[in-house]
Amino acid sequence: MSIRPSNSPPSTQFSLAELAKWGSAELTATGSTPRLDAELLLAFAVSKPRSAVLAYPEARVEPEVADSYRELISRRGTGVPLAYLTGSKEFYSLEFEVTPATLVPRPETELLVDLALARSSELAQPKILDLGTGCGAIALAIKQARPNSAVTAVDSSAAALEVARRNAERLSLDVQFVQSQWFEALGDEIYDMIVTNPPYVARADLDSSPELAHEPGTALDGGRDGLDEIRSILGVAGSRLTPGGFLIMEHGHDQGGAIVDLAAAGGFATQETVPDLAGLDRALVAQAAAGS
Ligand code: GLN
Repeated sequence: MSIRPSNSPPSTQFSLAELAKWGSAELTATGSTPRLDAELLLAFAVSKPRSAVLAYPEARVEPEVADSYRELISRRGTGVPLAYLTGSKEFYSLEFEVTPATLVPRPETELLVDLALARSSELAQPKILDLGTGCGAIALAIKQARPNSAVTAVDSSAAALEVARRNAERLSLDVQFVQSQWFEALGDEIYDMIVTNPPYVARADLDSSPELAHEPGTALDGGRDGLDEIRSILGVAGSRLTPGGFLIMEHGHDQGGAIVDLAAAGGFATQETVPDLAGLDRALVAQAAAGS
């Protein structure tokens, strides 16, 4: 079914319900939520909340708007993440601008924020570092929840940092952003806590995952076994924490054991694997030795 037959007059001939149904059918082979995606793209095209699209199914749509919706559906059909099409993604109840320069924040990454807040609750003014901040999701969510924290967020990508800075400005959150390959540009600075969602997808898995093809490889590619960047971080992180400070790191569901071993080898005093809401191993919480 076409939403605009070539002989159609330039009139408001399609209703929201018809367009949503068409878009949903077009996306059946894309992702797991074709109907929802179609409704969200329709809402974006008509500049209304999704609730309005659902509440007024009979409302007619201008032909130019229907055209731009058709274009969005077609791009989504090629696998472009929904968040890149709408330019935003919700994370920890905050709205973040995202672009193809940044990974789309995942719901399971909210676990890192929960852990960071819980493990820093005893400190009046925790100094927190977010490594590989992307659009700034983790750093800004922490700063929003703990205004007294001093948050530094680094990324190796200047393009990602621009997005993160815009998010900080729009959310009125004061986070320091630094362009750095992990710790390189940070000097001898030490932190009470390091939080990170590093690239951890094994190269072969990345190559065989078309759904990840549109996101930046630098945010996903963890090398042959997925652990290359995690190894670099764990080799240094222990020396960048205050005594008793915490490292909180996201990882793949099958990497928990290997990462606990790497953290132990990196000099941490304790290591724990924490599951996400789906029950999958998702985060390392490692504590530096208390000072003598
Ligand atoms: N959770 C992401 C995925 O598997 C990976 C994110 C990452 O490498 N940090 O899609």
